[in-house]
Amino acid sequence: MERVMPAPHILDGRSLAQDLLEQIQEEVSRLREQQGRVPRMVNIMMGEAPGACAYARSQKRVAQQAGIQYDLLMLPREAGQEELEACIRRLNDDPSVNGVMIHKPFPEHIDYQGAANCLDVRKDLEGINVANIGKMLLGETRLIPCTPAAVMEHLKFTGQPLRGKEAVIVGASHIVGKPLSLLLLKEMATVTVCHIATSEAGHLPDHVGRADILIVAAGRPGLIKGEWVRDGAVVIDVGINKVGENIVGDVEFETAKERASFITPVPGGVGPVTVMMLMRNGLEAFKLQTQG
Ligand code: NAD
Repeated sequence: MERVMPAPHILDGRSLAQDLLEQIQEEVSRLREQQGRVPRMVNIMMGEAPGACAYARSQKRVAQQAGIQYDLLMLPREAGQEELEACIRRLNDDPSVNGVMIHKPFPEHIDYQGAANCLDVRKDLEGINVANIGKMLLGETRLIPCTPAAVMEHLKFTGQPLRGKEAVIVGASHIVGKPLSLLLLKEMATVTVCHIATSEAGHLPDHVGRADILIVAAGRPGLIKGEWVRDGAVVIDVGINKVGENIVGDVEFETAKERASFITPVPGGVGPVTVMMLMRNGLEAFKLQTQG
């Protein structure tokens, strides 16, 4: 079927995700032929929050399309840290399991990083074990957090070199902004990371206005005004915000798209590529265990 492409400067995450899915399907088929098995990932979920269940179902659907085995392991919401860590260790020791993740949100009594650090570093599907975070600092990027990886895929798709570019990230969380800063540094961009205190000091528009590459992950609808965006900038909007019945990003899309050379929509931008990065990590974990 002929695919209808959007205007050239809109970075269509659904179409990029489809291309990535096809690459992953090919690799999985090759593994099935050569090794007689496919990657298996397990998602540990504590309790059944409706949003979390829907997200897990969509992950499972994509995994099935990719040919990857995906199992959900439910623990009761009131399960303690010890029970969670014992469960992770069992999965670490199970040779039929290649990748493990701990689904968010998790109950408040859980020390998430403590649990993440129990993951076998070669089965750490979301690159959250402290050892994998440390490896990223040293430039090793085989198992890395999925959302920053998705942002890098979008940037790769633009075909623009990153070396020497002014890259500005708005948002400094452990799962998006900070790891992304390391990935962009690895590509020799000049990286600025802005956060709430940048806004409080009134400096956000200045930093945004200098960006050749602007990535926003603050979770604040419409935080970035279109008129702040530099002409020709690449704009990647990671934000997902529910406003009334709509899902919107952190960037004022309509005005920003008049200036940007490339821009991601929300929804349909970074989100669909993020789940593909989880699948790619599943493949990578499998290879780490079987081929080193
Ligand atoms: P977080 O709450 O952990 O971190 C937000 C960051 O933004 C912090 O560093 C904070 O200092 C900064 N910030 C907040 N308000 C700001 C302001 N007014 N000015 C400048 N900086 C400000 O958030 P997170 O978990 O990193 O998520 C960020 C957004 O990305 C959310 O909308 C989330 O839903 C979305 N997200 C999307 C994906 C995806 O795959 N598309 C994945 C993860 C998160």
